[in-house]
Amino acid sequence: MTSARRLVCFDVDSTLLAVESLDFALAEKLGPDARAKLDAITNAGMGGQMSLKASLAARLDLARLTRMDAARIAVALQSRITPGMSELVSSLRAKGDVVAAVSGGFHDLLRLALRDLGIPQALSQTNRFTWDGDMVSGFDAANPLSDNGGKAVVLRDLARTAGATETVMVGDGITDLEAFEAGAAQRFIGFGGVIRRNAVAARAPEYAANVSDLSALLAN
Ligand SMILES: [Mg+2]
Repeated sequence: MTSARRLVCFDVDSTLLAVESLDFALAEKLGPDARAKLDAITNAGMGGQMSLKASLAARLDLARLTRMDAARIAVALQSRITPGMSELVSSLRAKGDVVAAVSGGFHDLLRLALRDLGIPQALSQTNRFTWDGDMVSGFDAANPLSDNGGKAVVLRDLARTAGATETVMVGDGITDLEAFEAGAAQRFIGFGGVIRRNAVAARAPEYAANVSDLSALLAN
């Protein structure tokens, strides 16, 4: 006899965290004048002129992060967890759900916040920096999360590893919705508690405007 086991998989940037971690890192490192350059990269990505890989590479080139920067930013991100998410994640786990995180963000920036949320490394799937001494030299391009459509691949792996009978994806972004539309999750809940993305809200079968709505939807 097999018992039901639900996997609840959260996006990180603008979902578990109230910021976009890489943009937060760039703003911390470069100051407000980085804003215009960042916006140009972001807009190119949204307009479809730039792949995810190219956008990551352009932002990392701009940032020139060191190990010290990464460590400092990881600490700063511990206090950017979306209010109410720690409690929600704990209550889901207490009810028997497996809680995982899937992110296009980077392990070295997110690891402390994810640890604080009690999400173990095996259930935290993120991009990885490559290093040249103390400098970030780029990212592991073999990681599916560095590619468009990568969240679906990773979600299927997590579901298999967790022995999940149902997978729920929760996130603010189009990449989160696309993982569900690719068939990698049985449910998708769009999350607008940090930023409401209208393209996601319009297509999402379920949508939570805030953490308490999300909690209510996940009670089913
Ligand atoms: Mg997000």
